[in-house]
Amino acid sequence: MPLEEARKKLMEMQGIGPKTADVVLLFSANKPTIPVDTHVNRVSKRLGLAPANGDYEDVRLSLQSLFNSEDYLYVHLLLIAHGRKYCKARRPLCQKCPVNAYCLSSGRMGVIA
Ligand code: SF4
Repeated sequence: MPLEEARKKLMEMQGIGPKTADVVLLFSANKPTIPVDTHVNRVSKRLGLAPANGDYEDVRLSLQSLFNSEDYLYVHLLLIAHGRKYCKARRPLCQKCPVNAYCLSSGRMGVIA
């Protein structure tokens, strides 16, 4: 089934939102989509990879436009890992962050939630 059709079918099920649908499609069906969880959303916006005020679809489509589809799983996993280790929600560790030279939000700790 094409990605968007499968996504729509999944989201018709009670309790299945876009993130869960994208997780199922990426991890279980190897479909080219990037699930946007809280870490992916926060980190991608801070880095300037997605619009600061973007919604779920804005972030997903922005990230997908920047990376090759075969790398979507790694993009998803690396953004989560980076959010957990450095780009924490309340107090990001910008001084220790390995990508702080490229980040639009570096040094603005706590400014962007
Ligand atoms: S420099 Fe700070 S805000 Fe930017 S990605 Fe690193 S930890 Fe996050």
